[in-house]
Amino acid sequence: MSQQLFSLEGRSALVTGSSRGLGKAIAQGLGEAGAALVINGVDPQRCEATAAELRSLGFKATALAFDVTDEASVVAAIEKLDADGIEVDILVNNAGIQLRKPMIELTSAEWHKVIDTNLTSAFLVAREVAKRMLPRGRGKIVNIGSLMSGLARPSIAPYTAAKGGIKLLTQSMTAEWAPHGIQTNAIGPGYMLTDMNQALIDNKEFNDWVIGRTPARRWGDAKDLVGAAVFLSSSASDYVSGQIIYVDGGMAAVV
Ligand code: NDP
Repeated sequence: MSQQLFSLEGRSALVTGSSRGLGKAIAQGLGEAGAALVINGVDPQRCEATAAELRSLGFKATALAFDVTDEASVVAAIEKLDADGIEVDILVNNAGIQLRKPMIELTSAEWHKVIDTNLTSAFLVAREVAKRMLPRGRGKIVNIGSLMSGLARPSIAPYTAAKGGIKLLTQSMTAEWAPHGIQTNAIGPGYMLTDMNQALIDNKEFNDWVIGRTPARRWGDAKDLVGAAVFLSSSASDYVSGQIIYVDGGMAAVV
């Protein structure tokens, strides 16, 4: 009975940046819970390949490549879903990039690129999707924040500013859309084993620091995010709004 609360049968989920990495694992997890998937990324071939791979595993998956930072492309993409008869019940704003550089050397173009990709994108895609969810009176939005939604480190200032912004954007979406039946929450992953972190994983000193600093004594795996993603996408979280769940092996809780 309580398992039914976590079922996503009959729902459609758009996961941005799901052609690879954490987004792909989240999409597959939502698919395992029953959702039909819309796979996104910038590279159309990678999106199509991931959607085909998921279909071969028995999931319903379509590819929808668009740049989440380009307002006109976002608007056109959601209109394409309308034309295809796909109503987005679940939106996961996951697309993101990292850029490591001392702030003193950072150009304003680099600053804007990171803010646009990690923060403005979540506003743009959610605004278009929420326009459709609001009249239906239901919907789930999950924004992917980070450990850096609440903590800082040297060399990643725009990323940290963007991810901190995600936490309060999630609260703003709650303030405006929760009264209309839309629950918006965030997930804050810790240090995860993905392409984005390959240089850090290969750096012995950094790798030792992550393992020593994380109470769970390991990096996270993409699959570690699935439980929180399914919870926040399902009826099990119908009275949960505006929260960020850190999936970080306990790192944010401990100095
Ligand atoms: P990856 O670099 O592995 O994958 C990024 C994904 O985002 C790809 O699918 C990529 O598409 C897509 N993407 C990038 N820019 C755009 C864009 N402008 N428009 C559409 N899609 C885009 O990243 P991760 O899986 O590591 O990260 C996913 C999310 O998780 C990010 O928001 C990141 O900040 C967050 N996160 C990651 C952590 C980690 O340890 N890895 C920790 C905390 C948070 P394409 O394949 O076409 O390039």
